[in-house]
Amino acid sequence: MHFTESETADLGRAVLRGEVVGCPTCNARLLVERSSHMGVRTERVFLYCKPCRKDGLFSPEAVADSWTPQQAKAIIDGFRRDRIARCPEDQSILNVIEDPTLGSSYLDVTCPLCGRTATSPSADR
Ligand SMILES: [Zn+2]
Ligand SMILES: [Zn+2]
Repeated sequence: MHFTESETADLGRAVLRGEVVGCPTCNARLLVERSSHMGVRTERVFLYCKPCRKDGLFSPEAVADSWTPQQAKAIIDGFRRDRIARCPEDQSILNVIEDPTLGSSYLDVTCPLCGRTATSPSADR
Protein backbone atom coordinates (compact mmCIF):
# COMPACT_ATOMS: atom_id res chain seq x y z
CA MET A 1 0.00 0.00 0.00
CA HIS A 2 1.14 3.48 -0.81
CA PHE A 3 0.24 6.97 0.19
CA THR A 4 -1.33 8.91 -2.65
CA GLU A 5 0.92 11.14 -4.70
CA SER A 6 -0.40 14.28 -3.07
CA GLU A 7 -0.12 12.83 0.45
CA THR A 8 3.46 11.81 -0.30
CA ALA A 9 4.30 15.27 -1.67
CA ASP A 10 2.72 17.06 1.30
CA LEU A 11 4.47 14.81 3.81
CA GLY A 12 7.81 14.99 2.02
CA ARG A 13 7.68 18.77 1.89
CA ALA A 14 6.83 18.92 5.58
CA VAL A 15 9.83 16.70 6.39
CA LEU A 16 12.11 19.02 4.43
CA ARG A 17 10.68 21.96 6.41
CA GLY A 18 11.87 20.15 9.53
CA GLU A 19 8.44 19.05 10.74
CA VAL A 20 7.55 15.79 12.45
CA VAL A 21 5.03 14.06 10.24
CA GLY A 22 2.13 11.79 11.12
CA CYS A 23 0.23 9.31 8.98
CA PRO A 24 -2.76 10.93 7.22
CA THR A 25 -4.80 7.78 7.92
CA CYS A 26 -3.95 6.75 11.50
CA ASN A 27 -1.93 9.70 12.77
CA ALA A 28 0.99 7.50 13.90
CA ARG A 29 4.38 9.14 13.62
CA LEU A 30 5.93 8.11 10.32
CA LEU A 31 9.34 6.59 9.86
CA VAL A 32 11.33 8.91 7.66
CA GLU A 33 14.47 8.29 5.71
CA ARG A 34 16.16 11.00 3.69
CA SER A 35 18.69 10.21 1.04
CA SER A 36 20.86 12.18 -1.29
CA HIS A 37 22.45 11.02 -4.48
CA MET A 38 25.63 11.97 -6.24
CA GLY A 39 25.08 14.71 -8.76
CA VAL A 40 21.53 15.40 -7.57
CA ARG A 41 20.98 18.49 -5.44
CA THR A 42 17.57 17.55 -4.10
CA GLU A 43 16.93 14.91 -1.44
CA ARG A 44 14.54 12.02 -1.57
CA VAL A 45 12.26 11.35 1.36
CA PHE A 46 10.97 7.86 2.08
CA LEU A 47 7.97 7.70 4.39
CA TYR A 48 6.55 4.66 6.10
CA CYS A 49 3.62 4.05 8.45
CA LYS A 50 4.10 0.89 10.45
CA PRO A 51 0.49 0.41 11.63
CA CYS A 52 -0.94 0.93 8.11
CA ARG A 53 2.01 -0.59 6.28
CA LYS A 54 1.80 2.27 3.82
CA ASP A 55 4.75 3.94 2.25
CA GLY A 56 5.63 6.73 -0.12
CA LEU A 57 8.71 8.04 -1.83
CA PHE A 58 8.93 11.74 -2.45
CA SER A 59 11.61 12.68 -4.93
CA PRO A 60 11.55 16.37 -5.69
CA GLU A 61 12.82 17.73 -9.00
CA ALA A 62 15.31 20.56 -8.94
CA VAL A 63 13.95 23.70 -10.54
CA ALA A 64 15.91 25.47 -13.27
CA ASP A 65 15.51 28.75 -11.43
CA SER A 66 17.95 30.21 -8.93
CA TRP A 67 17.66 32.51 -5.94
CA THR A 68 18.08 36.18 -6.66
CA PRO A 69 21.37 37.67 -5.41
CA GLN A 70 19.34 39.41 -2.67
CA GLN A 71 17.78 36.12 -1.56
CA ALA A 72 21.16 34.39 -1.57
CA LYS A 73 22.67 37.16 0.52
CA ALA A 74 19.80 37.04 3.03
CA ILE A 75 20.18 33.25 3.30
CA ILE A 76 23.92 33.43 3.93
CA ASP A 77 23.67 36.32 6.37
CA GLY A 78 20.85 34.54 8.16
CA PHE A 79 22.83 31.34 8.45
CA ARG A 80 25.87 33.16 9.83
CA ARG A 81 23.61 34.74 12.47
CA ASP A 82 21.27 31.88 13.37
CA ARG A 83 23.15 28.74 12.22
CA ILE A 84 20.03 27.75 10.34
CA ALA A 85 18.64 28.89 7.03
CA ARG A 86 15.44 28.27 5.13
CA CYS A 87 14.66 28.48 1.45
CA PRO A 88 12.74 31.72 0.85
CA GLU A 89 10.70 29.98 -1.88
CA ASP A 90 9.50 26.86 -0.05
CA GLN A 91 10.64 27.20 3.60
CA SER A 92 12.73 24.01 3.49
CA ILE A 93 15.66 23.84 5.88
CA LEU A 94 18.75 24.30 3.75
CA ASN A 95 21.73 22.01 3.68
CA VAL A 96 24.85 23.99 4.43
CA ILE A 97 28.39 22.84 3.87
CA GLU A 98 31.20 24.72 5.53
CA ASP A 99 34.58 23.89 4.10
CA PRO A 100 37.50 25.51 5.92
CA THR A 101 39.90 24.27 3.25
CA LEU A 102 38.19 26.70 0.87
CA GLY A 103 38.48 29.64 3.27
CA SER A 104 37.30 30.20 6.83
CA SER A 105 34.04 31.77 5.73
CA TYR A 106 33.23 29.46 2.83
CA LEU A 107 29.63 28.28 2.71
CA ASP A 108 27.77 26.16 0.19
CA VAL A 109 24.01 26.21 0.61
CA THR A 110 21.52 23.97 -1.15
CA CYS A 111 17.76 23.56 -0.88
CA PRO A 112 16.84 19.85 -0.62
CA LEU A 113 13.44 20.53 -2.21
CA CYS A 114 13.99 22.92 -5.13
CA GLY A 115 17.72 22.35 -5.60
CA ARG A 116 18.51 26.05 -5.64
CA THR A 117 22.04 26.63 -4.49
CA ALA A 118 24.35 29.44 -3.44
CA THR A 119 27.95 29.73 -2.39
CA SER A 120 29.69 32.34 -0.36
CA PRO A 121 31.89 34.42 -0.48
CA SER A 122 30.94 34.71 -4.16
CA ALA A 123 27.28 35.30 -3.34
CA ASP A 124 27.80 38.20 -0.97
CA ARG A 125 30.49 40.11 -2.76
ZN1 LIG B 1 -1.00 4.93 9.36
ZN1 LIG C 1 13.83 25.63 -2.05
